[in-house]
Amino acid sequence: MLLLWPFTLQAQDASSDYPEPYQRTALEIYRTLIGYRSAAGHGNVPAVARYLADQFRAGGFSDEDIHVLPLSLEGGEEVASVVVRYRGDGSSGEKPILLIAHMDVVDALPEDWERDPFTLIEEDGYFFGRGSLDDKFGVTMLTATFLRMKAMGWVPTRDLIIAFSGDEETGMLTARALVTTHRALTDAEFALNADGGGGSLGPQGEGIAYNLQTSEKTYATFELTVRNPGGHSSMPRADNAIYELASALKAIEGFRFPVMTNETTIRYFEALAQVTEGEVGEAMGRFARDPSDEWAADVLWGDPAQVGITRTTCVATMLRAGHAENALPQSATATVNCRIFPGVSVAEVEATLRDVTGNDGVEFRVLGEPTASPVSELRDDVLSAVAAAVESQHPGTAVVPYMAPYGTDGREIRSAGIPTYGVMGLFMRDEEIFAHGLDERVPVRAFFGALEHWYTIFTELAGR
Ligand SMILES: [Zn+2]
Repeated sequence: MLLLWPFTLQAQDASSDYPEPYQRTALEIYRTLIGYRSAAGHGNVPAVARYLADQFRAGGFSDEDIHVLPLSLEGGEEVASVVVRYRGDGSSGEKPILLIAHMDVVDALPEDWERDPFTLIEEDGYFFGRGSLDDKFGVTMLTATFLRMKAMGWVPTRDLIIAFSGDEETGMLTARALVTTHRALTDAEFALNADGGGGSLGPQGEGIAYNLQTSEKTYATFELTVRNPGGHSSMPRADNAIYELASALKAIEGFRFPVMTNETTIRYFEALAQVTEGEVGEAMGRFARDPSDEWAADVLWGDPAQVGITRTTCVATMLRAGHAENALPQSATATVNCRIFPGVSVAEVEATLRDVTGNDGVEFRVLGEPTASPVSELRDDVLSAVAAAVESQHPGTAVVPYMAPYGTDGREIRSAGIPTYGVMGLFMRDEEIFAHGLDERVPVRAFFGALEHWYTIFTELAGR
């Protein structure tokens, strides 16, 4: 499905050292991937997988090293993952490195978007499209870098293995299967995740910090339900499902889980304190020195970008109740989404929430099967490879260990015993991040910078 080349030459970065033909290949892959509506329910993930397998085959990878692995989800939808092994000469004597990204996206409704979400559009210095950031960007980077290195005749000193999953945004079952059922294909010393980490830029485009993601909070969702016999609204009973649920939710609103830290979060706040101005910067420094500093914890509580790094959080996200305007509600249900600090179990959080609501009549139900994952200990080889890549794009930017308040496939890989590091090559200003939302985009300059980033990481970790 090769259409007319839609880009003018401005879509290339003349200032980049990245060779022009490889820039074009990367853009073509990116454009094609965004053209697939690979959201849950649309059944397009297997086609994306086949398209990618074709690119690797055409790029000189042999059939025995390319695997498209189908998986049927509950409900019947077919998804897939892709594994590609780049054979090294074994000279380093080290186990392979796994490279992960995901092919699926959160759905986007074309009628809500200003531009068609499933067409890559370049405008005002940005690439727009669903998945332009999360995570067709990552898939493109890894694919394009494999193809470039292969075309150059480069032979790594150890095997590199790409593993693209197909349901990261919903169940993460393909990622789980990749490191369990298909472990023989994916076993590695550690994994690099193209869907985590990344750099932040200041207003002038200067590097502020690069987050090297070593851990993720556990994602868990609870449904809280209050039931009641109900009745006619002209004869209200003293008890009422909606009021009871509302009281429970107000109690949760007023509750703060205790402050927690680990080596990653302390080093994170130490480093960010150096580059963050005002009250928040001061709070970061004080918190890193003394996490029991209440003033510091209070200031960070008030900053949505930082609160999740300091503790477990739970927040109400959905409500449904009642069945008629003139009937007493027979049930009221709220959805409460939690992001749990590593080391705390889902059951402990449930017990705390039950306590906080103070009402045995509130029923709790855990949705899905939350997976908790360990912190990956920082490795010197990964740290120095990433530092070299960061230095070449944005000299002087600090590389900071980072615990993500969100979850990715990384949690499945870590849970299976493979340490995983989010080392995405993207540098953006905070206000440029629109993942999952409307008008998802990445700056054009960042696209070419990320190609350089992965090229450097590959040569640092598996070059001579
Ligand atoms: Zn993602």
